[in-house]
Amino acid sequence: MSGTKDFRPCPVCRILVDPASDYRPFCSKRCQQIDLGRWASGDYSVPGDPVSSWNDTEGDGEGGR
Ligand SMILES: [Zn+2]
Repeated sequence: MSGTKDFRPCPVCRILVDPASDYRPFCSKRCQQIDLGRWASGDYSVPGDPVSSWNDTEGDGEGGR
């Protein structure tokens, strides 16, 4: 083995991030912004969220639009 670094998966896109990256734990500035945006908009865990746009296609695959 040639130098086992502490690579960790990016929380956003899951690719391995170099520990020397400027955007840890993210792989890039883009993913960093994406994660920040999620938190800022309260998209993660909102108690009592009536509308869920995530699992909107859980029922029948047909009969929609
Ligand atoms: Zn990423």
